[in-house]
Amino acid sequence: MTGNSTESLDTITLAADLIKKSHSTVSLTGAGISTPSGIPDFRSPQSGLWTKYEPMEVASLTAFRHHPEQFYHWLHPLALRILAAKPNPAHLALARLQLAGYLSVIITQNIDGLHTQAGSTDVLEVHGTLDSLTCTNCYRQYPATEYLEHYLQYREIPYCKECGSILKPDVILYDEQLPVRTWLKAEAACKHCDLILVIGTSLEVMPSARLPVQALEHGAQLVIVNNGETFLDVRADALIHADVAEVLPMIADEVLNA
Ligand SMILES: [Zn+2]
Repeated sequence: MTGNSTESLDTITLAADLIKKSHSTVSLTGAGISTPSGIPDFRSPQSGLWTKYEPMEVASLTAFRHHPEQFYHWLHPLALRILAAKPNPAHLALARLQLAGYLSVIITQNIDGLHTQAGSTDVLEVHGTLDSLTCTNCYRQYPATEYLEHYLQYREIPYCKECGSILKPDVILYDEQLPVRTWLKAEAACKHCDLILVIGTSLEVMPSARLPVQALEHGAQLVIVNNGETFLDVRADALIHADVAEVLPMIADEVLNA
């Protein structure tokens, strides 16, 4: 933890008090909550996923349509990590808070499904999910596990059983529109909450970074737990620059008197 530890513990207590007093808390989570589960932030040049391709050049819908094999080649190491990943103490802490009625909705920028695996419900995956695949021609949807495991093992790109066209993972690519219904639910949740927890995101990816701004504009309070700085740090009622897997269980314990 940064700063002196007494100050950090005070901030944890403050964050817990805000959660206890809130009538409607939502959370926005990003790549930082899944890095302790071994999933690299694919937008980060340090992730190791930039060595051959730049994600924006290969992980766009246009690129997928023209060179699906290149996209799948790029996805391979990320998919390997995601399929092997387990929820970490930060995911579990949010699930505990949600189960106890202290957290309504989790809006996540992650595609790894770890919130759901941790036992959370009402998870809005605004960047889509790697849990399913959709045919690029007839739009039939398939559960991903079997196809992705086959792909990871044999490196054969998945095709639709109905029409033979290429299947695309239901992750939102760079030039692809966000899932409209999910996005509208996320906006509505932010406009109606009185507290938003921003967890493990540096708020650099638009338009998700606008969600806490909408919450603030509607009078919500703001808790930020993130390793690095964000542009909303100055607006935070409780600001903790630390490892989310270390701090979130402490906040949950304090709220739940565990
Ligand atoms: Zn098809």
